[in-house]
This record gives sequence, C-alpha cells and structure tokens, in this order.
Amino acid sequence: MVAILLELNLFDGCSISESSRAVNLLNMATTTKSKASENSGNGTMTMQSKDQSKKRAASDAAKDLSELFEDGLKDIYWAEKALTKALPKMEKNATADKLKKAISKHLLETENHVKRLEQCFESLELKPKAERCAAMAGLIEEGEHIIEETQEGTVRDAGIIAASQKVEHYEIATYGTLAAFAKVLKYNEALDLLLETLAEEKKCDTDLTALADTNLNTQAK
Ligand code: FE
Ligand code: FE
Repeated sequence: MVAILLELNLFDGCSISESSRAVNLLNMATTTKSKASENSGNGTMTMQSKDQSKKRAASDAAKDLSELFEDGLKDIYWAEKALTKALPKMEKNATADKLKKAISKHLLETENHVKRLEQCFESLELKPKAERCAAMAGLIEEGEHIIEETQEGTVRDAGIIAASQKVEHYEIATYGTLAAFAKVLKYNEALDLLLETLAEEKKCDTDLTALADTNLNTQAK
C-alpha cells in the first residue's frame, strides 16, 4: 500500500504523510467497527462467539484495493452528511461575521461534496451507501464540547476554528488517499470528482488559517 502511494508521489500539495495518516485512520475505523461488533449484544461474550465475530470481521474485511476504496467512500459519505448537520450549529455559535460567513460558505460546498460522492458511487455503478465514520464522529463531538466549554465570543471562535481545521485536515487526508487509490484503479471519473473536492477542502483550511492569523486568535488572548 505504502509502495503504491510512494510510487504515485500523490497529488499537488497532498503529502505522503497525509495519505499514510489517512490509511492509518481507515485502519483504526475498521478496528473500531470490529470492536463495536464484539461489544454489542449481551455484554460478556463467550470465547466461541468472539471467534465467530473475528471470522465475520475477517470476511467483511476489504479483500483488495477496490474494496478498500469503496469502504473509504462509504466512510467519507457518512462524514460529509454528518457535517451538513454539524456546520449550521457551528455557524450559529460563532460570533465574528467573517467566521460565520466562512462556515456558511463551506456548508454549501459540503452539500456539494455529498453530491459529488454520490456521483463517484454512480460512476462505479454502485448505490450510494454511508457507513459510520468513527473518526469524523469524534471530531464533531470535540467541536460540540468546545462550544459547551466556552462562552460566546472570541475564545469560542478560536475554538471553533481549531475544531473546523481538524475536520478539514481529516478530509484532506481522506480525499488525498481516495484520489491516489482512484488513480491506481483507473477510476478516472471518480478521480476528477475527488480532486475537485480535495481542492475545496484545502482552500477552506487555508481560509480558516488566514482568519485565525489575521485577528481572531489575537483578540482571544
Ligand atoms: Fe467536505
Ligand atoms: Fe470540509
């Protein structure tokens, strides 16, 4: 896998470490899913049912790069849809006008990211399907905690920017990796769509950095 990523040298601005990180996160999500299925049910599991669960997890595991790609698509599809619900809350709790506008602009882009992912599925003749992305669920939860733990104003704004940038970095890593996979798999239509979204995620991250640098973090001191 790493060999494939190294060989590709990836895409403009998407570093090997970003993509390797994304692969690790995808692996973590798979582990979390198997753990969740082990823990579900009656609480304590017998050795036998644990073995059965392991066998099930193994049979669910991606067998090749195309399956890993499809699993990644389902994860980010869930993540983008979850963001369309989380962003309005972030916008409502932000104070600075520039930050409100940046979040509202990215909400429109995010709705488009959902549509682009649906086009990706369709280009592969697959029905769009979302699978809970544990990483994004955690990042959204962290953003909600920041809002709960701060008072309205510049400090909360700084926290909202920090939480939003963590989300953007996760998306950048994910889209960078999926684009690298699509290139290897010669899924050209999906590749173009993923690169389009990747560019918007990067722009959003840069805009948030500029917003934090120009005034918000200084005012939050
Ligand atoms: Fe997005
Ligand atoms: Fe985004």
